[in-house]
Amino acid sequence: MTSLINYLAAIAITWLIAHLYYHRTQNVPPAWAKDFVSRLPVERPKLNELLKIVQEEVDSGNIEINHPLGRVSCPECGHNIKDFEVKVFGNDYVTIAEFTCPSCGWTEESEV
Ligand SMILES: [Zn+2]
Repeated sequence: MTSLINYLAAIAITWLIAHLYYHRTQNVPPAWAKDFVSRLPVERPKLNELLKIVQEEVDSGNIEINHPLGRVSCPECGHNIKDFEVKVFGNDYVTIAEFTCPSCGWTEESEV
């Protein structure tokens, strides 16, 4: 009789652990993230698809390309380059522009 109880208890504990892990591993996003997750691509986009998405954002004005730096965002924190502080200095022969990220302070100079 005791072995039957032990056997049933082992089955119940096994079922409970499997049930908990089953629910833990489900990839159902929380309600607040469902809209965001539904917009993510199912597969990794190909380069041409990614370029098309970036070009659409450039055309809409959401992304501005900084020609002297060749960047669209800060390499350290990802801040949009539209908000960068620009200081221009130089002399009669050369003009230097210094770009500074307002979020993290990353700085790069470029001859313009
Ligand atoms: Zn930054």
